[in-house]
Amino acid sequence: MIVKHNKNEFEDYLVDASSYEGFADELIIPENVDEIKQILKEATVKSHKITISGAGTGLTGSRVPLGGKILSMERFNRILNFDRERKTLKVESFVRIEEIANYLAGSGLFYPPNPTEKLSTIGGNIGNNASGARTYKYGSTRKYINKIDVVLPTGESLTIKRGEIFANGYNFEFCTNGGTLISFELPKVQMPKVKHAAGYYIEQNMDLIDLFIGAEGTLGVVTGAELQLLDSPEEVLGAIVFFDSHDGMFDFLSEIKKTDEIISPRLIEFFDDNSIMLLRGTIPHIPKTTVYALWIEIETSKEKSDETLTNLYLFTSQFTSLVDDTWVALNEAEHKRLAHFRHELPLAVYEKIHQYKQQKLGTDSAVPNEFVKEYYEYMVNLFKQEQLEYVIWGHIGNSHFHANILTKNEDEFRRAKDVYVDILRRAVSLGGTISAEHGIGKLKKEYLKILYSEEIIDGFRKIKEAFDSKNVLNDGNIF
Ligand SMILES: Cc1cc2nc3c(=O)[nH]c(=O)nc-3n(C[C@H](O)[C@H](O)[C@H](O)COP(=O)(O)OP(=O)(O)OC[C@H]3O[C@@H](n4cnc5c(N)ncnc54)[C@H](O)[C@@H]3O)c2cc1C
Repeated sequence: MIVKHNKNEFEDYLVDASSYEGFADELIIPENVDEIKQILKEATVKSHKITISGAGTGLTGSRVPLGGKILSMERFNRILNFDRERKTLKVESFVRIEEIANYLAGSGLFYPPNPTEKLSTIGGNIGNNASGARTYKYGSTRKYINKIDVVLPTGESLTIKRGEIFANGYNFEFCTNGGTLISFELPKVQMPKVKHAAGYYIEQNMDLIDLFIGAEGTLGVVTGAELQLLDSPEEVLGAIVFFDSHDGMFDFLSEIKKTDEIISPRLIEFFDDNSIMLLRGTIPHIPKTTVYALWIEIETSKEKSDETLTNLYLFTSQFTSLVDDTWVALNEAEHKRLAHFRHELPLAVYEKIHQYKQQKLGTDSAVPNEFVKEYYEYMVNLFKQEQLEYVIWGHIGNSHFHANILTKNEDEFRRAKDVYVDILRRAVSLGGTISAEHGIGKLKKEYLKILYSEEIIDGFRKIKEAFDSKNVLNDGNIF
């Protein structure tokens, strides 16, 4: 175990990708599960705060410590077992998404969740129930976690295998690996029926593993996980489709979702007019009359790829006169070009935020599919009304937007915050969520109240108490 007391040696661990900054007394880097058990047991006895650190790519300050000790999982970085027959991969918690993809390349199997940030770890992805572009077809991290090994705040271990421990209605009662009984009641929450990552996952008769996925490290330290893999498609056709009208893009979007048999994309990602304007700075040859763009991917086979391309062309030509400008990808280099288009955008936005020396203010809200156009127009009208600079992109297949407000001074920031709250309220009033993938962390706690009543948030606190009576682990996240 490595312990560092000098702040200069652990400054990088006091922030995450949101730039929110915390403070801590020391950094601990354990090398095995027994050390983690010892650290947590002592923390509970002495009431020391412990904050679990993954790769720090989170966007809500959830790995940022507010005092106490940082527990970095960086030594838990091994891929342990690949079972081709069962199509599973057992990994330690600090294995990065990129490493999993590289390891499986050429195996004929793949791990479906693909957050844009490839340096994020499985532990962090479980912490936030991370999603990615492919969530449109495959769902989020939750669906692909078969088993987790956890160390609880008391220092006891708990192995949770999907399908083994269920709530009886809204009541849980089960034993840790060492035989200690844990029981608690779940609040009766009606979660929004959209992609959702705000607060604990609650369902009647739910599986215990689902409570830990998306718990933002508040219930235990995940040391390892078994991942479910799927067969890789033989071929993937990628395309950036450019649109020259607002209605054309939204009509395309609603119609493509009905083409299950013919096109059936696995991802649909959106870029608004301001995204396009920013991207023109680094990416050449974007058609001049582009209003919006969509990045889509369609799974196909060698035999069918020409037919898939023709179907896409014919379908697209009904909605945009820029159909002949579509960028198509079939081989790895071409796919990289499209992924680069997507990846450049957050970087360009971060550069602007840096230039304006203001905090990032970005939504992570999602709404039911039938309200996607209405919700988008609502946001844009508000930004224009308030004369705020904005860039909107996101996982539009899931009606999930990242609307980034770029403010230039304190006054604008204050106004932008009001607009931001308005946008979240609107999402909730349409049956949506305030966070579809980034979680609540420390930065979005005040907004959780837009979604849930105090009574429900109190119910979350009681779950936490059942695992962590001294509130030592990841204090400050969610509530
Ligand atoms: C450019 C960019 C693009 C992004 N794109 C996406 C995207 O497409 N989809 C998406 O969902 N997110 C995205 N994110 C956000 C981020 O990558 C995810 O939230 C990711 O899951 C964080 O992983 P991490 O390893 O960096 O975790 P951290 O930021 O270190 O931690 C996140 C949370 O998980 C907890 N945690 C970490 N390890 C463990 C563990 N072993 N046991 C228990 N709890 C643990 C932490 O305490 C914290 O609460 C993006 C971020 C950036 C900067």
